[in-house]
Amino acid sequence: MAAGAGEHGGGPGPHDADPALADFPHRAPRTRRWCFADQLGPHFLDGPDQPVLLIESRAVLARRRFHRQKAHLVLSALRHRAAELGDRAEFHQVGTYAEALDRVAGPVSVCAPTSWRSRDFVLARRDLQVLAARGFVTTQAEFAGWAEGRGRRRLLMEDFYRDSRRRHDVLMNGAEPVGGRWNLDAENREPPPADGRIGVPEPWWPEEDEIDAEVRADLDRWEADGDVSFVGDDGPRLFPVTRAEALHRLEDFLQHRLGAFGPHEDAMLTGDRWLAHSLLSPALNLGLLDPLAVVVATERSARDRAAAGDLLPLNSVEGFVRQVMGWRDYVWHMYWHLGRDFRHANALGAREPVPGWLAGLDDGAVDAACLSDVLGDLRRDGWVHHIPRLMVLGNYALQRGIDPSAMTDWFHESFVDGYEWVMVANVVGMSQHADGGALATKPYAAGGAYIDRMSDYCGGCRYDPRKRLGEDACPYTAGYWAFLDRTREQLAGNHRMRRPLQGLDRLRDLPAVVEQERLRGTGAP
Ligand SMILES: Cc1cc2nc3c(=O)[nH]c(=O)nc-3n(C[C@H](O)[C@H](O)[C@H](O)COP(=O)(O)OP(=O)(O)OC[C@H]3O[C@@H](n4cnc5c(N)ncnc54)[C@H](O)[C@@H]3O)c2cc1C
Repeated sequence: MAAGAGEHGGGPGPHDADPALADFPHRAPRTRRWCFADQLGPHFLDGPDQPVLLIESRAVLARRRFHRQKAHLVLSALRHRAAELGDRAEFHQVGTYAEALDRVAGPVSVCAPTSWRSRDFVLARRDLQVLAARGFVTTQAEFAGWAEGRGRRRLLMEDFYRDSRRRHDVLMNGAEPVGGRWNLDAENREPPPADGRIGVPEPWWPEEDEIDAEVRADLDRWEADGDVSFVGDDGPRLFPVTRAEALHRLEDFLQHRLGAFGPHEDAMLTGDRWLAHSLLSPALNLGLLDPLAVVVATERSARDRAAAGDLLPLNSVEGFVRQVMGWRDYVWHMYWHLGRDFRHANALGAREPVPGWLAGLDDGAVDAACLSDVLGDLRRDGWVHHIPRLMVLGNYALQRGIDPSAMTDWFHESFVDGYEWVMVANVVGMSQHADGGALATKPYAAGGAYIDRMSDYCGGCRYDPRKRLGEDACPYTAGYWAFLDRTREQLAGNHRMRRPLQGLDRLRDLPAVVEQERLRGTGAP
C-alpha cells in the first residue's frame, strides 16, 4: 500500500496506508530512506542495512524564533544519528531540503512527515516514494475506522483510548481492563504534599559530548551572523538525543518515578518542576522511541515488579499508559482528522496579540507567583509539565482572549517538545477551546482557587486567589469572571458551563471586575 510516485495525484494519501503492510524489507531493499529530524529511531527504517538520507536544513531554523534548547536538541539529535549510522547515512547540511534532494542519486522513500506543510512538500516531489506515517501506536487507517464506527457522535479521547487498549491488549485481563476500571483519573488529582516533596530521586540527566559542543558553537555563530534568532536560555542539555539516552531515561523513569507518577500528576511545586513526570516527550517526538514499545515496556515492568512483590499503584501505571497511547495518539489523529482549517479555528473570537513579555519569556516582568515561576522554568529549560501548560499559561491566554493561532506559534517555538501536529490539538483545541469543543467538552478556564489547591504558589504571592476586585485581586480569579462575561453567548449552549454562567449572574461587582480586567489587559500581571 505504499503510495508510489505515480499515485501522488488523486490517489489515497500516505496516511490511508497501513504501515504494517507498507514496508516489507524485500520490497525496496536499496531504497534510501529519508528520515526527517523527528524520525530518528530504527522503527522508521525497514531493516538494519537500509541506507539513510539525513538533511539538516538551515531554513527550518530560520523560519521561527525557537527556544535555543529546542534548536540545540534537534540539531544534536540529527548529527548524533548521522554519526551513529556512519557510512550508511548520506548527511547533507544545507539551506533547504530541496537543495539536498536534488543532489541525491537513486530511489528515495520517506515515511509521511508530521505536518500538513511537510506532507505537501514530499507529495509534490515526484522523486520521493511516500510511505505511511510511523511513530504512533495506532495507524491513521485504524483511527479512521474507529472514527467512522456506527453511532459514534463525538470523537472522545476516552473512547479512542479504550479501543486502542483492547486492540493492542494493553493492561487487559481478557476483555476487561486490569483492575476492573478503565479510568483512574479521580485518584490522580492530588494536590502537592504539604512538605513539598513527592519522594522520588532527581531524573537521570544525559551528558553532553563534542557533538553538543559543535552544535552550540554553530548556533552561536549563526545567531551572531543574524541568520537565526532564539528565545530562552542556553543550558546543559536535559533531554535525550540518541536512542541509547532515550532508553536510559525510560528505564530510569520505570524504575524510580513511575510509582509516584499518578497521584501528583496534576500538582505544581515551586521547588520541584519535574515531580514524577517522565520527561520523555522530546525523545518520543524526535522518534527515538516507539510509543507502543514504551507502553509494552511499562506494562512488563509493572507486571515483573508485581510478581516480585513490589506492586506499583495501578493509577500510576494506567495514568502513564493513558498519556502515551491515549492522549498522544489522540491529538495526533485529531490534527489530521479536523483538517487544515483546525489551526485557524477561533470559536471564541480571541484576537489579542501575544504580549512582548510572554513572547520573550520574561518572567522577571511578572508579579503573579505561578506565572512568573512557570515562565522562568520555561525560559531556563524549554519544558514545564502539562498542568502549568494548560492551567497557568493556556488558562492565562484563554482568559485574556489571545489569538489561538498566535498562541499555537508561541507554544511551538517556546517548548523543546513542540511540533505542529502536537501543538494544534493541544493549544487550539484543548487549551484555547477555539474548536468550539471538538476536543474538550468545556473550556479549561479556572480561577486562582484551582491554582491555589494544586500548587504551593499562592502563599507568597502579592495577589490573593480569593479576591476578584482591588489591588491584590488575583489576575486568574478576576480573569476567569471577565472571560465568562465576554464569552457568555458562545458558551450558553454548553451544559457543563451552565453553573459557572449562573454564578456569573450572581456577582454584583461584575461590571467593576470586567472594567478592572479590561484595563489590566495583557499587561504583565
Ligand atoms: C497547551 C499544551 C501544550 C502542549 N504542547 C505539547 C507539545 O508541544 N509537545 C508534546 O509532546 N506535548 C505537549 N503537550 C502535552 C503534555 O503537556 C506534554 O506531552 C508533557 O507535559 C511532556 O512531559 P513528559 O514527557 O514528562 O510527560 P508525562 O506527563 O510523563 O506523560 C507521558 C507522555 O505522554 C504524552 N502526552 C501526554 N499528554 C499529551 C498530550 N496532551 N499531547 C501529546 N502527548 C501527550 C507525551 O508524549 C508524554 O511524554 C501540551 C499540553 C498542553 C496542555
